[in-house]
Amino acid sequence: MTARIIDGKQVSRKVKEEVKARVAALAAEGRRQPCLAVILAGDDPASAIYVRNKQKVCAFSGIQSMMKRLPADVSETELQEVIKELNEDPAVDGILLQLPLPEALRSLEPTFLEQISPDKDVDGFHPINIGRLALGLPAPVACTPFGVMRLLEECGESLEGKLAVVIGRSHTVGKPMLQLLLQKNATVIVTHSRTKDLATLTRQADVIIAALGKAHFVTADMVKDGAIVIDVGINRDEDGKVTGDVDFGPVSEKAAYITTVPGGVGPMTIAMLLENTLLCYAMHEGNIE
Ligand code: NAP
Repeated sequence: MTARIIDGKQVSRKVKEEVKARVAALAAEGRRQPCLAVILAGDDPASAIYVRNKQKVCAFSGIQSMMKRLPADVSETELQEVIKELNEDPAVDGILLQLPLPEALRSLEPTFLEQISPDKDVDGFHPINIGRLALGLPAPVACTPFGVMRLLEECGESLEGKLAVVIGRSHTVGKPMLQLLLQKNATVIVTHSRTKDLATLTRQADVIIAALGKAHFVTADMVKDGAIVIDVGINRDEDGKVTGDVDFGPVSEKAAYITTVPGGVGPMTIAMLLENTLLCYAMHEGNIE
């Protein structure tokens, strides 16, 4: 079997176009423009690129982006003040705190994330939203797992009763994946670095979500024929080339569906940020569907 590629670039384009159409419809009704505020502290070049890309997709879809640039030596109080100001600004729908923060504030990241109003938490990292997700209540969901679910939809196969094995249990990927897959009535096993005999589990899986951050970790002998394999990993090889957690060539000979790295989950993460901004807008303005 040769796997069909689930094209993240194409699906993310579709999501961005959908958001653009919804924002245009709001404008046609004379409603205000949704707005995403991004806080960038310090001068990490990778963070600056991520933020620029987020601003570009906002501009494409008609979502206003507001930039709060703070110096690398910003104090805890100053950052708290900016979050408070944005929480209280009725024109702001979503607040994104670009991570990592400068070294001196890094250990406080969870505290700052918790200070963002849950109804403006476009990253879906607030404990209240994590709790709401676990309860099956509407909430912004962390963009990467949200994007994985959108890619799984593209396969057009029901997840009901399927065995999904998630490799990795981070708060931002593995754990929300568990909740989202459960909502679709999959049977889910979440694995981690202490899991024994992982390959025995993955070999039974109808769906494998690889999110551990180890290049080419998922090999063909770990995958059953016809499985759906989603590669979340972003790793760099010795030449600086980006690779995923899945040994793509051999695994794509066995799987039914597979994502590539790059061009799979990565483009979805940014597209789902737009979806979350619209969800927060809807919470502020009333239902927009
Ligand atoms: P993380 O916080 O480092 O978590 C990695 C997880 O993998 C941990 O739960 C760890 O287990 C588990 N793990 C490590 N070695 C393992 C092994 N040998 N067998 C089974 N599980 C193992 O990473 P993350 O933030 O979730 O990210 C995972 C990967 O996805 C990274 O490559 C990251 O760059 C990528 N990523 C991509 C996107 C995107 O937009 N495409 C977004 C986010 C992350 P323990 O808990 O036991 O340590």
